[in-house]
Amino acid sequence: MILFVLPPLTQLNTPYPSITHLTGYLRSRGIEAEQMDLGIELINRLFTRVELGRVFDLVEARVEARELKLNKTLRIIVSNRHFYERNVEAVMKFLSGRDLQLANRFSDVRFWEDMHRLPDEEELEWAFGTSGKVDRAKYLCSLFLKNIVDVVQLVDEHFQLIRYAEKLCTYLTTFEPIEEELEKMSLTEKLSLTESTELTEKASLRLALGNGNMIEELMLEIFETKMQEVKPDWVGISVPFPGNLLAGLKCAKYVKAKYEGVKIVMGGGYVNTELRQMTDTGIFKYVDYITFDDGELPIRRLIEGGELLRTAYLKDGKVEFAQMDVQENEKFGDLPAPTMRGLDLGKYIDFVDTTNPMHRLWSDGRWNKMMLAHGCYWAKCAFCDTCLDYIGRFEACDVKIIVDRMETMIAETGNTGFHFVDEAAPPALLRKLAEEILERKLVVTYWTNVRFDKTYTAELCYLLARSGCIAVSGGLEVASPRVLKLINKGVTIESATECMRNLSANGIMVHTYLMYGFPTQTEKELYDSLGRVRDLFAEGLIQSAFWHRYAMTCHSPSGRNPESVGARHVLLHTEDLSLTEFTEFTEKAMASPALNPFANNEIPFEVDNEPDWDRFTEGLNVATYNYMRQTGFDVPLKRWFK
Ligand code: SF4
Repeated sequence: MILFVLPPLTQLNTPYPSITHLTGYLRSRGIEAEQMDLGIELINRLFTRVELGRVFDLVEARVEARELKLNKTLRIIVSNRHFYERNVEAVMKFLSGRDLQLANRFSDVRFWEDMHRLPDEEELEWAFGTSGKVDRAKYLCSLFLKNIVDVVQLVDEHFQLIRYAEKLCTYLTTFEPIEEELEKMSLTEKLSLTESTELTEKASLRLALGNGNMIEELMLEIFETKMQEVKPDWVGISVPFPGNLLAGLKCAKYVKAKYEGVKIVMGGGYVNTELRQMTDTGIFKYVDYITFDDGELPIRRLIEGGELLRTAYLKDGKVEFAQMDVQENEKFGDLPAPTMRGLDLGKYIDFVDTTNPMHRLWSDGRWNKMMLAHGCYWAKCAFCDTCLDYIGRFEACDVKIIVDRMETMIAETGNTGFHFVDEAAPPALLRKLAEEILERKLVVTYWTNVRFDKTYTAELCYLLARSGCIAVSGGLEVASPRVLKLINKGVTIESATECMRNLSANGIMVHTYLMYGFPTQTEKELYDSLGRVRDLFAEGLIQSAFWHRYAMTCHSPSGRNPESVGARHVLLHTEDLSLTEFTEFTEKAMASPALNPFANNEIPFEVDNEPDWDRFTEGLNVATYNYMRQTGFDVPLKRWFK
């Protein structure tokens, strides 16, 4: 039996698909598998009257002991603690959809008069009109939770609503900072709060837990209950993002201390991207195996025995990688539908802290998450991690299999909403999907990532909309003809605009990803790019956008061959690597003493005459925020930047 754990924290509105895919697969092959979303379990436990009361008690104790000084905002929240304690459970009930009647009270701004972070009536009316009670109430309830998070952070600085210790776990060159954190003393221990009955009851557990703080202790109590219930031989920890790593390792440490003989395997997006070249052995004090890329076969080999596949483990005091380059995988078409059995879907909550209808899709609503195909059908963009299997290996299957999987998920969850989590859904496949959905007379709603390909004609977009497509997201990236060509996106501004026009004309919302700071990009090209984005908003062709700063990664074509985009790797100067050697980048990097012992992803680079991109970050965000609200179109572009 294997227990898959998604450690705190990822999104709150719907299960992240890593564990649902693996659980579905192993069960279909006759291997016992259970799953838990520890993040949503933690949130449901923490946001109760009792536990929130404990948080406030701890904060007040720390203030009294002069360990903590509150700013004015936090003082207001803490002085209104009874308002938060009284309402937190009702808010959770409403946001999880278990009591929608509460919208009548929660949509009234007067209900929240004790709350800091309150929008004015005019702003609410602009966003929701006078009749959108449920949406309005969700928004106000989400602001209420944000206030609570501010207080929880006083007892655990790592806590955020959808990630945990992300800052600590980003750019980890060595394992040391994590190790230090894993061995820290808890606040409750420091404050000697073990006197109360409730805490005394938990004292023995806490001893077993080691040195977590209150949030970690809660998390581990929930984990312990599941461990007792499932009694697994294996624990599989999924780490899709840096913001899951520390909590995942806390669970692993707990298993090692309390469950001798239970093996621990870790995998996921973060692991695949960052730990492929790891030499630091620290993590193997907590986990036995780390698997890479699609986990189905590597995990099956571990459980059933046989030659290890794409798996790292400790051998003779060193990190050993087994068969990392072997692309042996289950055929995409042979995989079963992901399963949510074992997850309590009633615990997921909508979180709506934005009034933008496109943005909120990521955090509002229950979406069955699945893939239309494996990998990206294009896989050529210079900045993208195309060398990684989940992007670079494209594999599709008969669309009937996809729609069968959709029907299986609908039958299992009762939800007809789908988020296809492909990197870029192939338009030809989307066409067949739409036809199959219409043929089977299914009433579904779906959204996905696309590449703004010229094949999105008016006719195709009409078909997609009729079959239930409500939104797409995709990269326009640099919105400047020269740089767009340089990054090898394979689209032009004109064709992408036409594609967006066809989508919007059919009522399909469009979100676009944008990038700045690409090698050789000039300030003028950035202004042009922002101007283009402004025009797209003004014309109603896009509904939301997000800017990323370009990062050169070792898995991207630009990272493997920086000269192709006019950049130089800094290692060229420090390590004397030749240009020829760079064509074999990964191999050289493995041998390079400059390689980080633990995580490796971003590569330092330099270009001639690079603008100071930092000074553009805030302006781009503010301008785009205004455009999303349909204002600021007449502000001269340069005015957004100080
Ligand atoms: S950026 Fe998108 S379209 Fe380009 S290669 Fe990556 S996944 Fe494919």
